[in-house]
Amino acid sequence: MNIPKNIKTYCKKCKKHTDHKLKQFKPAAARAVSKGQRKHLFKTKQGYGGKSKFPKQPKKQNKKPAFLAECVVCHQICYFIIPKRMKKMEFAEKK
Ligand SMILES: [Zn+2]
Repeated sequence: MNIPKNIKTYCKKCKKHTDHKLKQFKPAAARAVSKGQRKHLFKTKQGYGGKSKFPKQPKKQNKKPAFLAECVVCHQICYFIIPKRMKKMEFAEKK
């Protein structure tokens, strides 16, 4: 799906709709010693495993694209997500 590079959306700092530049969001690597990770390791590595309570759910095939939107006026960066699953995401080129 083609997505425009500039998008008009609400800016919290300017308190009005302004132009935003979109940049693809890349999550940082997970920390190895975070509380959640330690809890997960403790739960999965202790004992003999046992039986899982619920059957495994099938994974979704596609992901919802996530962006970082930067306000052109005040350069405030916010997380921006398109709530639609898509196979392929491309920034539309200007004609
Ligand atoms: Zn702004």
